[in-house]
Amino acid sequence: MAMITSLETQIRDLPKVSLHDHLDGALRPATLIELAQQVGHELPTQDPEELAEMFRSNADSGDLMRYLEAFAHTTAVMQSAENLRRVAREYVEDLAADGVVYAEVRWAPEQHAEGGLSLDEAVEAVQAGLTDGVESVSDQDGIIVVGQLLCAMRMNDRADEIAELALRHRERGVVGFDIAGPEDGFLPSRFESAFTTLAQNMLPVTVHAGEAAGVDSVRDALVSGRACRLGHGIRIAEDITLTEGTDSRSRAAEGGDEELVEVNLGETARWVRDRQVHLETSPTSNLQTGAVAALSGDGSSTMADHPFDMLYQLGFNVGVNTDNRLVSGVTLSGELAALAEAFDYGMAELVDFQINALEASFLGYEEREALSAFILEAWQ
Ligand SMILES: [Zn+2]
Repeated sequence: MAMITSLETQIRDLPKVSLHDHLDGALRPATLIELAQQVGHELPTQDPEELAEMFRSNADSGDLMRYLEAFAHTTAVMQSAENLRRVAREYVEDLAADGVVYAEVRWAPEQHAEGGLSLDEAVEAVQAGLTDGVESVSDQDGIIVVGQLLCAMRMNDRADEIAELALRHRERGVVGFDIAGPEDGFLPSRFESAFTTLAQNMLPVTVHAGEAAGVDSVRDALVSGRACRLGHGIRIAEDITLTEGTDSRSRAAEGGDEELVEVNLGETARWVRDRQVHLETSPTSNLQTGAVAALSGDGSSTMADHPFDMLYQLGFNVGVNTDNRLVSGVTLSGELAALAEAFDYGMAELVDFQINALEASFLGYEEREALSAFILEAWQ
């Protein structure tokens, strides 16, 4: 168990925004055990703490297959309306307990049809659970607003169907669309017709890109996917060259005041920065899946190696997320505290990341403005 710092406690009490957090990666260990017993699914242990620790050490192992193992267990127990509803309710309650006031929950309906649920029934069950969660938070005098992002799995061929599903439920909880699963080898252009349907109907899209693949994948997410945001997006750093130089017109102060660094952005990086395309970074997950190691050349992968700070200093629009709370053993407050420690951030920076995320969220403008005022006031 990671040590809970006082900074983390302080952050937990402040209102935050979570845009990238998978439903099937965020179950309570005790719930997973209880539901697994009910459906007759075998788990490696019946002890909640041991199970959480097992997932966390698998995630830290550097082996993506071991990282992904957890999802076979979680999705196995999420095949009925009742269980989806419960998992969704607890998801909201746990976020509220961590101080999250706005969240977009992403999940892939096509992975929850093994028990005979239709895609529509699955979306309705999750929505019922989210509504339960929001109500139980408000009963405790808390507030949280939650929207669904429906994911199509890249290795399957159901993106058109999922896009139509998202459109059918847009007035009933669905706020956007994403593609998830193996990024490398499954470019967004494979799903061009789904993205075109969504664009024609003006439902916003975020695309996992720049995690398991590089600049070409990010570019295709923007061009074929018309992505408003990028899931992780950190390998956009491959399109940035920093060289020590003396050109004062294009420099960023890196580290010390004296050191001048010349910054060159490729076309894709320029688009992402200049258009302020939001990057849904997930620091610990990015270390665990090898996205950071892919960038560091020598394969080193500690929080200090994460390109988050470089991107932030260069003016990229960055936010902070958990990706999979159970699988990685993280919370949003913990991720913010870890970044603060690695890069010496204070409250001014941490609230910046919340506002970046909120502004990039798929919530309507007026609701965003109201929440933004609430968040800024609380952090001051
Ligand atoms: Zn993700």
